[in-house]
Amino acid sequence: MLIAGNWKMFKGPGQTREFCAAFSPPAGVDAVLCPPFGSLGAAVAGGHTIFAQNVHWADEGAFTGEVSTKILLELGVQGAIVGHSERRQYFGETDETVGMRTAHALERGLRVIACVGEQEEERRSGETEDVLRRQIAVLSPHENLVVAYEPVWAIGTGKTATPELAQEAHAFIKSMLDVPVLYGGSVKPENAEALLVQGHVDGALVGGASLEVESFTAICETAARLSRS
Ligand code: PEP
Repeated sequence: MLIAGNWKMFKGPGQTREFCAAFSPPAGVDAVLCPPFGSLGAAVAGGHTIFAQNVHWADEGAFTGEVSTKILLELGVQGAIVGHSERRQYFGETDETVGMRTAHALERGLRVIACVGEQEEERRSGETEDVLRRQIAVLSPHENLVVAYEPVWAIGTGKTATPELAQEAHAFIKSMLDVPVLYGGSVKPENAEALLVQGHVDGALVGGASLEVESFTAICETAARLSRS
């Protein structure tokens, strides 16, 4: 089971070193940390599996503020999150650019967590499946690709999708694209088991609860226990 911690724009190199020294993931879980760009080097030196939070579709070029697969690979980074809803919402990320970033990263040997998910209004008006269909259409199956289903209304809000709702959305995604699907949206030690036990939930993308070693470790331990049973 894959459990990824998205640190967003938190933790510089010093706090990253402290976290990595204290973090010891249980066996049987693919635990991934996703620090901000400036902390990637410190995180890689900490010996854990490290993903970036974004990656560009060109090998190099005049793309101020972006980072390439080549630079990430040189740093020892193993993958990247692509298309997080905060990138879509605040930085103009589109389905098209998500598709370009994902295809290029996979081609160059990075693993990718591609994020999809509907806004609250879209769910309310019955558009969830249309939104997911459009977001998934730019992705192609690949052994190093996983999708994270993150209903936007559940990210950083404390509102979690019910396990049944997550299961239903994951099954829909898998009917279009045969890759593992993580759930993301206010996953915490208290609700991790109910979500991870669902047959179509193959792991979690964790934001807030990944910032503390104790809570992230507790979620990883739940995943390890469920993987053994
Ligand atoms: C995220 O950032 O991908 C996320 C799911 O955040 P949170 O767990 O804080 O809702």
